[in-house]
This record gives sequence, structure tokens and C-alpha cells, in this order.
Amino acid sequence: MATMQRTMEQAMDREDMGEMEDEGENCPIATLDITVNLKNRAKAITSAAYGPENPELPNRAFWMKKAEQWDVSPEDAKQSLCGNCAAFNVSDRIRQCIVDGIGTEADPWGTVKLADLGYCEIFDFKCAASRTCDAWVTGGPNTGEDEEDDMEDEE
Ligand code: SF4
Repeated sequence: MATMQRTMEQAMDREDMGEMEDEGENCPIATLDITVNLKNRAKAITSAAYGPENPELPNRAFWMKKAEQWDVSPEDAKQSLCGNCAAFNVSDRIRQCIVDGIGTEADPWGTVKLADLGYCEIFDFKCAASRTCDAWVTGGPNTGEDEEDDMEDEE
């Protein structure tokens, strides 16, 4: 019951913030609007301890905390990253959305590849493969292949 209530609250939050995708090929708003993206990212940080801020550093305290929470060793905790989370969408379609949102002032594809960016389907923001959060789900990333298979089946 609590889970259902939480899910409904999350869905209502998402609608309030105008984050729901339209049907079809449209991009999630957070890929195009940096303000929405930052707001959703902040929510991932406060509610699910998204991080670490700089994955290049040892971040011992961060990984100790994750290990404690997941009841695994810090080394094992470091194996559960956005990059292999089922909510991490790295489909061509989403990555094109992220590139479109970055615009032409920077090198959009270079930025996406350097930061290994994808889209978090749970918190609705652009996230980096080398980070993680408390809501990590096994089985990822989502490369969009299932989506493509479904489309082929419909043809
Ligand atoms: S839910 Fe998955 S993709 Fe989203 S921030 Fe957490 S670990 Fe990363």
C-alpha cells in the first residue's frame, strides 16, 4: 500500500513538473531543459543519495555508506553503477535527445561520450554511467533494443 501510494505520489509529482513524455517520438523535458534536469537531479541526490560528485576520486565515505546500505563490500558496491542499472537509458533515441538539449555551442556528442551520459528513467534526469544511487536496479543498461524489437514486431 505504501509502495502504491509512493508510486502515485511520484507520478503526480512528475505530472506537476511537466515531465511526462508525450506519446511518440518526443524527448523527455529534462533532456532539453537544464532547469528541470537540475531539479530532478537534486531530487535524486536528496532522496536516493545519487553520486559521488566526482567519480574519479576514491570517495571512500560514499562507497562505505552504499556498501552498508546494500550489505555488501565497498568493492561490490562499486559494481552497481548507473551504467549497469536497468533504469539507465542509453538508447540512440535518448542520446540524440541529450545531444539536441546540449546544443551546438559545445561538442554535444563529445560531451555525451566523455561523461558516458544516459537518461535515468526513475528520477528523470541525465546521469553519468560512473555514478549510482540507492534506487539502483539490476539488469541494465537499457540500450533500447527491446523498443526496437517491439517496433519491428509491429511492422
Ligand atoms: S535509478 Fe539507476 S540510473 Fe537512476 S540514478 Fe539511480 S542508479 Fe542511476
